[in-house]
Amino acid sequence: MTLPDRYDALVVGAGPAGSAVAAHLARRGARVALLESKRHPRDKPCAEYASPRIAEELAALGLVPDAWADAALALDGMRIIRGDTAFDLRYERRERQRSAWGLDRKRFDALLAAHAGASGAHLLQETALTELLRSDAGRDGGRVTGALVRHRNGRRRAIHADEVICADGARSLTSRLLGVEREVAFPRRLGLVAHYSGVAGLERSGEMHIGHRLYIGLAPTPGGEMNVGMALPLDRAPRPAVAAFEAAIASLPAVARRLTGSRRLTAIRGSAPIGHRVARTAGPGWLLIGDAAGFIDPFTGEGIYRALRSARAAAAALLSTDPAAAYVAERRRAFAAKDALTWLVQGMLATSPLLAYATRRLASRPSAARTLGSALGDLRPATDALAPRALLSVLRP
Ligand SMILES: Cc1cc2nc3c(=O)[nH]c(=O)nc-3n(C[C@H](O)[C@H](O)[C@H](O)COP(=O)(O)OP(=O)(O)OC[C@H]3O[C@@H](n4cnc5c(N)ncnc54)[C@H](O)[C@@H]3O)c2cc1C
Repeated sequence: MTLPDRYDALVVGAGPAGSAVAAHLARRGARVALLESKRHPRDKPCAEYASPRIAEELAALGLVPDAWADAALALDGMRIIRGDTAFDLRYERRERQRSAWGLDRKRFDALLAAHAGASGAHLLQETALTELLRSDAGRDGGRVTGALVRHRNGRRRAIHADEVICADGARSLTSRLLGVEREVAFPRRLGLVAHYSGVAGLERSGEMHIGHRLYIGLAPTPGGEMNVGMALPLDRAPRPAVAAFEAAIASLPAVARRLTGSRRLTAIRGSAPIGHRVARTAGPGWLLIGDAAGFIDPFTGEGIYRALRSARAAAAALLSTDPAAAYVAERRRAFAAKDALTWLVQGMLATSPLLAYATRRLASRPSAARTLGSALGDLRPATDALAPRALLSVLRP
């Protein structure tokens, strides 16, 4: 097949964000190229626990639950455990219980990329963006007009597009080339994940164990395996991933007990630092979506939902006469309150006595825990959990 050199949109990266925006645009008839430097199914370090709301985002892409059932396992929620205190994070919308999802990330991402292709996008795998093309440099260094790409076989070519949508993840080359990447100052964490078999007693929900400056999540995945994912402080003297992984498990006896008699099935994969920051998410001819537009930390299990939600915001913005402004405004509507809640949770994680206090209160106040869970699961506005009454219901003695 001869591919055109010019598209309506060039999407860089076929993770959940890129595949979703490519599918949205192709479904309404746009000419879209979707670049992926690797080949699906590909590995992505992930704790594989997704927010309930991915179901609505997938439906908006034309994917009914049966289409992704093999890649997802319905879960009741997460049990948050700190020392001898625990509470259940559950998700509710209009008093109806909703499921979170344990994912097979490899399969899930491959399925989304294939869906983008089936929707009409040109999926170019093993093809990496190497440079951005710009019109004559102006105030913003010129309008982005396309990219130079290189196939694994060494072939290079230019692809021109009206809009370049950068979905190349938390190590985003595009945000660096655009000059908007910023240092991740806090939280600075190393993320490590591996799959286990033979972990008993966690078929319907996950567990999040919080220790001193670290946390470990256990999330059941489709096929009966368990994802063991952790975030550790990055300032410790670096040591081999296996040693760091095993020391973290040993530091939390409840996790060590859970894993007694189990078997690690995969290598330990990691990412550091976990997050990504940018100064701006849009400009002339370009939009950043998914992790490339910024990611805080996986503790609240929402990176995949955000990737899908920001993809929908980007697709809608391209219908406007000023896509960059429309996209920034929609991101503010969709994410500003949730970001504030996520930062509040991060602040608590970093402040041991406050975290201990809040965990004890949430353990004895199920309705406050439900409000928090539903806000973190994007099932009610984050402002509900940030309202003075809600904060007081957690923090009052
Ligand atoms: C340790 C860890 C645990 C996590 N756990 C969870 C969790 O449990 N739940 C959750 O919801 N989120 C979790 N996240 C976050 C989640 O993985 C991300 O938010 C999500 O993957 C974002 O999707 P994305 O499409 O933006 O980026 P990605 O999934 O990273 O996809 C980016 C794609 O771009 C491709 N690419 C990169 N550079 C180029 C290039 N130059 N040219 C072409 N292609 C390129 C990459 O190969 C990749 O396929 C976790 C993150 C980490 C680090």
